[in-house]
Amino acid sequence: MSIDHRLVTLLVCPLCKGPLELLRDAEQHPLELFCHADRLAFPIRDGMPVMLVSEARTLSGPDGDTTTTTKPITS
Ligand SMILES: [Zn+2]
Repeated sequence: MSIDHRLVTLLVCPLCKGPLELLRDAEQHPLELFCHADRLAFPIRDGMPVMLVSEARTLSGPDGDTTTTTKPITS
């Protein structure tokens, strides 16, 4: 299951309507869609982006240090 890049370019942050960056794991599998402006990472489950702020993860720090503010992401 892979995310089509065109799909990603159509997706915007539900908060600020800004562009999202596709984050991948070490094996290049899509993990999350990240909004730099809000520092929110929206999960991708079964290849489908979950564009819900309540499901998003807040990232803090300039080096990718992460802090989970909501429930842990389960896959
Ligand atoms: Zn945003």
